[in-house]
Amino acid sequence: MTDSLTNWGIIGHEWAVAFLRRSIAGDRMAHAYVIGGPEGIGKALLALRLAQALNCDRAGVDPCLQCRACQRIAHGNHPDVRVVGMATQAAGLKPDEAARQKELRIDTVREWQRDVTLKPYEGRRRIFILHDAERLTEAASNALLKTLEEPPPYATLILVAHTAGSLLPTIVSRCQLLRLRPVPRAQVAAALREMRGLIAGDAELLAAWSGGRIGWALRMADAPEELEARQEQLAALLSLAEQPIAARLRWAEERAKEYRAGEQAAVMDMLALWQSWWRDVLLTAAGCPQAIVHIDRRDEVTTAASHYAVADVHAFLTSIGLTVQRLRDNVNPQLAIEGTLLALPERRGVRR
Ligand SMILES: [Zn+2]
Repeated sequence: MTDSLTNWGIIGHEWAVAFLRRSIAGDRMAHAYVIGGPEGIGKALLALRLAQALNCDRAGVDPCLQCRACQRIAHGNHPDVRVVGMATQAAGLKPDEAARQKELRIDTVREWQRDVTLKPYEGRRRIFILHDAERLTEAASNALLKTLEEPPPYATLILVAHTAGSLLPTIVSRCQLLRLRPVPRAQVAAALREMRGLIAGDAELLAAWSGGRIGWALRMADAPEELEARQEQLAALLSLAEQPIAARLRWAEERAKEYRAGEQAAVMDMLALWQSWWRDVLLTAAGCPQAIVHIDRRDEVTTAASHYAVADVHAFLTSIGLTVQRLRDNVNPQLAIEGTLLALPERRGVRR
């Protein structure tokens, strides 16, 4: 790895950095980019580094990270770099009000756009970073299209989306798409050892859990208490299968309450964790135990694979997927979560 790549600090998406560096060097920058990929994969960091590279005082192809411009961009107070997203839209709202915000509204985009016409104050370019672009309403997308069609020559727009596929094709077609893919498990594990000093076993486990989301893995490595909480959460989820229906429904009610109180991301994470466990059971039953995520619980996964019918596990995974979709669609969270609980597979030969 060269020093310049180190400055970008992007792990696993070296192709994207190389592409951007070549574009900057050849003065062939696109006026708009879409950076797509799963949550925690490194999209926000890439957007930040691009903004820094384009306005760095040293005016090379790499951000120096030292100059005033690089530092102000990192701290979110450079006058020529405007960042908006669900978080800025929800600023000043109470947590439960913020939780009800599902979409990027047209007024958020308009306010951001008003700025696009202004010339740079002190940088070379005006940079507009729009996070959560997959949550643009149709009206907001259409408003954005106008800017994408006739961008001022000194503006660069960077749309960051968890699922680029949910953006309007007319938007994507006017942008350079950089689709970030999961980083190979071994590369995530190596980064965790080298950058966070994790021992091999811990690094491999966290890398497996991350599903290639390097940003998530590095964050978790800094938060051992969260890792512990995650193990406890998994244990609680697994014990649900042994509990009577009434206890399961009570549990659903509690999660729904959390969801309504603004803990949406936590509930979604929990569903993803649950899904990952049952996917492991399915993989093991299908004869691919080497691909599982919960490598620290291999024995339990193997036991579960022998206790449940493959069709039931499959149906349950489908049900979790449906619950996630329903929550996104704003269905009553309690009904959505209860639906999944009732679909929990039953152990062969056990009837309640
Ligand atoms: Zn700099």
